Amino acid sequence: MLEDLKQRLALVQRLNMPADAIYGVSPQARNRRDESVPGSAFACPVCGGRFRRFLPFGLNGRRNARCPGCGSLERHRFMWMHLRDRHRLLRRRLRLLHIAPEHCIRDALASNPGLNYVSVDMFDPEADRAADLTALPFRDASFGFAICSHVLEHIGDDRAAIAELFRVLVPGGRAVVMVPIDMKRPETYEDSSIDTAAGRDEAFGHPYHVRICGADYPDRLRQAGFAVELIYSRAMPPHLRRFLRINKTVLFDCRKP
Ligand SMILES: [Zn+2]
Repeated sequence: MLEDLKQRLALVQRLNMPADAIYGVSPQARNRRDESVPGSAFACPVCGGRFRRFLPFGLNGRRNARCPGCGSLERHRFMWMHLRDRHRLLRRRLRLLHIAPEHCIRDALASNPGLNYVSVDMFDPEADRAADLTALPFRDASFGFAICSHVLEHIGDDRAAIAELFRVLVPGGRAVVMVPIDMKRPETYEDSSIDTAAGRDEAFGHPYHVRICGADYPDRLRQAGFAVELIYSRAMPPHLRRFLRINKTVLFDCRKP
């Protein structure tokens, strides 16, 4: 693992890649209120902030991507709208499992008195439990809800991880899952023989991704037993998508029967 990490860091330096472009928003980036630009052109549904512009993010400096208030990115804001409006999570009383927690979503959920919030991460010292998603340290049927966004593409045995999500949910429980996905690609592309950071970067577009998920990816969730509904951000009114700076993406709303 350490060796792999060294490779990754070397690659990050060679490509002049900011670390938070690889693993989302860094802890340091969370509270950059000093960079905020008050205004009303854009709104962040996660923190409720209104801004003249959002911050650039990513390798190409994607414009108006990151919320200056809470650090949310486009996909975080989309997922948050789904959690808040479709599942009304802020009004529910349940035990919620957050895998590899995005800090902006965690901050918006963890303080909610109705939610018994538990976060799990292999590397984040701020997470409640250090654990591997393919072997969760929880009893069967012990959570009512799970959030797992942009994690499975890092896991070689993602079917084992999906099976664990299914196992720890109660019947009727939900998992909201996101992966980077290329819906124009009919089949998911993976090759476990590609096992170096540089090789993965070339094959999968990211030094730590182990596949490119295609349109068939929801089948893996179905094979674990989930009923899966695809939720497209493009179903939102265009003016609202622009106002909240939400990109065209999809999430998987998974229900354990
Ligand atoms: Zn925000």
